[in-house]
Amino acid sequence: MDTPLPIDPGARRAILDAVAALEGEAVALLARLVRHRSLLGQEQSCLEDMAAAYAESGLAPFRVPVDAAALAGHPGFSPPLIDYAGRDNVAAMHRPRAARGRSLMLQGHVDVVPEGAGDLWATPPFEPAVRDGRMYGRGAGDMKAGLVSAVMAWRALRLAGLQPAAELQMAAVIEEECTGNGALAVMQALPRPDACVIPEPGPGFTALYVAEVGVVWAWVTVTGRPAHVRDMQAGVNAIEAAYVVAQKFKEYETAMNRAEHRHPAFAGHNHPINVNFGTIEGGEWNSSVPTRARVGLRVGVMPGRSCRDVAREIERLVADAGTDPRLAGARLAVAFRGFMADGAVFDPDQPIARAVADCHRAVTGQAPRHYAAAALTDARFYTLYGGAQATCYGPEADSIHGIDESVGLAAMHEVTRVLALTIAGWCGIEPTQ
Ligand SMILES: [Zn+2]
Repeated sequence: MDTPLPIDPGARRAILDAVAALEGEAVALLARLVRHRSLLGQEQSCLEDMAAAYAESGLAPFRVPVDAAALAGHPGFSPPLIDYAGRDNVAAMHRPRAARGRSLMLQGHVDVVPEGAGDLWATPPFEPAVRDGRMYGRGAGDMKAGLVSAVMAWRALRLAGLQPAAELQMAAVIEEECTGNGALAVMQALPRPDACVIPEPGPGFTALYVAEVGVVWAWVTVTGRPAHVRDMQAGVNAIEAAYVVAQKFKEYETAMNRAEHRHPAFAGHNHPINVNFGTIEGGEWNSSVPTRARVGLRVGVMPGRSCRDVAREIERLVADAGTDPRLAGARLAVAFRGFMADGAVFDPDQPIARAVADCHRAVTGQAPRHYAAAALTDARFYTLYGGAQATCYGPEADSIHGIDESVGLAAMHEVTRVLALTIAGWCGIEPTQ
């Protein structure tokens, strides 16, 4: 069964009318979610709100813990940054009376990245503000609007007196921004769906993802030799040494973006592989040569390459940096915690991608724009390890991970319409009674 089940015009009209009737509630739910400062380790109140949203929609939400010991042997598992106690994911499932269609997972993550310099924001990052049809706030685009679209799409079907004629799963997960272990735990705990769609945002346009890079997080610790600055030559400055290491990584980044290293999905991309120096800590005193510095790095992985091979390359780069004469006497160590993730390709011709694209065309009159992402999402799990079709499709957003992040509310409603029709076409529909 490869083509979407036909939706009769009356049902389609009823579904689209229901989405329109729910627009006010959708914006209110988005504001509710943005208010939660759901950083790593602080996701629970937002998850509780998502559980409430599922319950208000007639589903019975349940918790899905992340059992790190049980997942540790899985090839998609990433070394955690913090403990999982009290940090469960939330999921919900609809089961049809008669399963006729294909099952579907609509998933999103509640975790957000730090707001950066809060004083640079036009309005405070966790006080949702609507200006010119956009909602501003950290996580508004990435990806609380997508969580809203998914639950509202389901709710619209119900409001139209319909329900999916196949299992529909929904989940709100943790740690999409650092490991993906929340999504992995959910995938392992629930029945395997035929397809998964994650409403991750598009970069300034509503996008259908066709590929994404993988990511490795590495932590490089440089131990120098402390000295008083008056004897600076006697010491090895750990922070300056970290700078030498950084230069090696920038050379690596340049090489990895050359045409011969590119997957075809990224042929037109100007810089798919990014090495980001995200954090640096070190030093003790302005007048002491610093003893130790630690740099937190994020290194992109081209689809088709193994993240573990890239981890070995990172180790080699650091070892190579250690032979630089400027680092004589310094000690270098690498640790891997956080993302150890392969890239993925989401074939635009797979049935779920075609189903989403068809519904996007039905709603907007145009084909969705394809997007090969230089960042990663949780959709990789279903493609790489789940034996399920997967893609991301979500509303246009601006400045995700930046200052004044925002999402277009019209785009969010449009994505809700597309997801509602996608559920109907993919799963089939049956009357609620
Ligand atoms: Zn995201």
